[in-house]
Parts: sequence; C-alpha cells; structure tokens
Amino acid sequence: MIIILMGAPGAGKGTQADFLVRSKGFKKIATGDILRRQIELGSAIGKQIEDIVNKGHLVSDDILLEVLRVSLREEAGKSIVLDGFPRTLGQAQWLSKQSDVAGVIHIDAEGEELVRRIEGRLICGTCHAVYHLREKPPRKEGICDRCASQLIVRKDDSRNKISVRLDTYENETAPVLNFYKELGKYFRVDGNRSTEQVSREIEALLGQLNFVTV
Ligand code: AMP
Repeated sequence: MIIILMGAPGAGKGTQADFLVRSKGFKKIATGDILRRQIELGSAIGKQIEDIVNKGHLVSDDILLEVLRVSLREEAGKSIVLDGFPRTLGQAQWLSKQSDVAGVIHIDAEGEELVRRIEGRLICGTCHAVYHLREKPPRKEGICDRCASQLIVRKDDSRNKISVRLDTYENETAPVLNFYKELGKYFRVDGNRSTEQVSREIEALLGQLNFVTV
C-alpha cells in the first residue's frame, strides 16, 4: 500500500517522509534522491539527466517509470511513502495501474515560505537527511548529525533555479492533485506551520485512513 506526499519544492515532503519512516516504519521512495545518486555515480542515466535536474526541469516520464518499477519491485509488499513521485499526470495514471494508492497528502505551503526554506537548505549526500542553516542547523557545521558525512547545497537550490522549479510545479504537477481529488484520495495539510505540527496532522490523517503499516 502506498501513501504519496505531494507539494511544491520546499514544502517539506522529504522531512515528513523521514518522519513516517521513523515513526511508522514506512519504506521511503524519493525519486529526487535516486536521481541525484545516479548523477553522483556517473551512471549512463546519471549523465543523461544531470543537466536537466541541475536546471530544475523534470526528467522524462520514461526514465521515472523505470526508476519506480525497480523501486516498487524492491519494496514489494511493504508500506511505502512516495516523495517526489508522481509529478506529471502520465506518472499518476501509470502508478494507479501498478499499485493501490491509499491516499495523497498535499503539504500546501505558500510561495515566500517555500523560497525561504529552499534557500537555507543543506542535504546529506549519503543518507539524504535534510537540514536548514537557520531552522535546523546540524550540530557540527557542514557535517550530518546522522551519518557524519559532508553536507551539501543542492545545485538546483539556487534562487534562479527555484523559480523554474516552482513554475514547473504549478504547470506540470499541481494538476495531478485534481486527478487524486476526483478519485477521492486527496487530503490537504497546512504546510506553512512547524515541522512538528505538520507531522502531527499527517499522523492524525493516517489514523483516519485506518492506515496500518506492514
Ligand atoms: P526532488 O528532490 O524531489 O526535489 O527532485 C529533484 C529533481 O529530480 C527534480 O527537480 C527533477 O529534476 C527530478 N525529479 C524527481 N522526481 C521526478 C519526477 N517524478 N518526475 C520528473 N523529474 C523528477
């Protein structure tokens, strides 16, 4: 069974997906993390997508469907939280033929708040933990609390790329929310609030959905 976290870049999908992994035993599939890993490894796919990801554009559905096919096979039978997929209607339609989507949680945050969060963001290239220079600094500057690897700034987290990514979200990904509304699977949480408040709201929603992790 699958729960999807949707929201604009900076809404907190990755942070809340990590919360669900820690507190509920979900397996997380984060397509952005998978793609960045391929770029880092310099694989054939990594070379093909590097420029697209770094410029803040979407990678083609063909590549994403293959990434998901492999990841869903690896986590078959487990409770999965999807972070960053689907991002197009084509991806959402494909997914509905593969798996049972229990619900889509839209973490809805305002434009200025999104920019503020993305601009101070740091990520761990190894375990993908997310930090923020002001809101959630690591204990030791530049070092991941969890695995002691070096923290990095994502190439697509610069100001000019942020506006490209927000536009892409509005044009390509926001329509996917309607797809799930029509299926009766859409749930909204207010993403402008603190991380802890959003986590609590997501937890309550999962209770309402009667969601039991396997
Ligand atoms: P994220 O870490 O989720 O913000 O994703 C980083 C980047 O990876 C995006 O800006 C896209 O370039 C690419 N990406 C991740 N997931 C998808 C997807 N489902 N469809 C297309 N591109 C994606």
